[in-house]
Amino acid sequence: MQADTTVYDYFNRPLRDLRISVTDKCNFRCTYCMPAEIFGPDYPFLTNKELLSFDELERLAKIFVAHLGVKKIRITGGEPLMRPKLAEFIEKVKNIEGVEDIAMTTNGSLLPKYAKELKAAGLKRVSISLDSLNDEIFGKINGRGVSVQTVLDGIDAASEAGLQVKINMVVKRGMNDSEVLPMAKFFREKGHILRFIEFMDVGNTNEWQLDDVYPKKQIIEDINEVMPLEAIDPNYTGEVASRYRYVGTNDEIGVISSVSDAFCSTCNRARLSASGMLYTCLFASKGHDIRSPLRTDLTDEQLTKLLGDIWSGRTDRYSEERSEASTSRKKIEMSHIGG
Ligand code: SAM
Ligand code: SF4
Ligand code: SF4
Repeated sequence: MQADTTVYDYFNRPLRDLRISVTDKCNFRCTYCMPAEIFGPDYPFLTNKELLSFDELERLAKIFVAHLGVKKIRITGGEPLMRPKLAEFIEKVKNIEGVEDIAMTTNGSLLPKYAKELKAAGLKRVSISLDSLNDEIFGKINGRGVSVQTVLDGIDAASEAGLQVKINMVVKRGMNDSEVLPMAKFFREKGHILRFIEFMDVGNTNEWQLDDVYPKKQIIEDINEVMPLEAIDPNYTGEVASRYRYVGTNDEIGVISSVSDAFCSTCNRARLSASGMLYTCLFASKGHDIRSPLRTDLTDEQLTKLLGDIWSGRTDRYSEERSEASTSRKKIEMSHIGG
């Protein structure tokens, strides 16, 4: 049996889940994530040299899994499929001993091109983001006029390739709350789990206000009125979505209620940005530079100590402490750490 190498933070939360952002670039400009006015043609995206290479990412992933207790790896971005040769990296991750789950979050637009090779490389699951079934609403949200069908094609391509698919929908009051019920009906029929995500105050560019949050309670009420729901138990400790199923069936939905019902007490996620900054909270104002030490001649033992000390010193519980002062403080943008 392998020794338990789990590292615990200040509140005794283990590190289990590593989210790796492989690029800060994206072919969408979602208003709540990368508003086009700010992420315009002159925006200083990372250069290739500034990005962690796949070899560097593999080395870090190996350390996290072998010595720090990580079991799940999620690839994200920006739009992860904008990073050339991503399947090669997925294959490297799959071959790391001890990785129990590899997933990816994507806007789905490039899945028709890549789904098969991603599956062949060892990817198990994809979460595909879609915020509306109405082209006018969706085109405005994604800031590029991308059609709903483009994403639906990506969803079908992923399913056909044999990937497990979940759908993520960010709900913002006045933007797409009218789409909660149509989306629930559509994906129930299609047989995919839909997860609603409350609009969050990540970063400083999306002009977040508490009034814009369409809370979990309201989302559940909207659906329950037409298709009765019952709460079900989490699959595992630390699962961020509260789960519900349609009464009398096994068809389920989830709600990620980071704002109205925080879940910091079981948060076991670390996030590595595309430039090699490690964040111990989605709402962090400061990360830890891992790229510089990685590019010196530190040994794996020294890197393990560095990473382990960062997690051991972690005291983050932003959502449980959220206040007016905290929402306006400087925070890392979502497109850098990938949700
Ligand atoms: N580009 C990929 C995508 O859209 O799925 C991966 C990166 S994206 C930053 C990851 C997830 O974060 C997406 O599901 C997106 O909808 C969600 N997201 C981005 N900004 C958000 C915000 N302010 N509040 C809640 N969710 C957000
Ligand atoms: Fe791109 Fe995803 Fe952000 Fe939309 S949510 S702008 S698709 S990174
Ligand atoms: Fe984890 Fe930070 Fe979110 Fe709390 S606010 S659940 S600590 S990422």
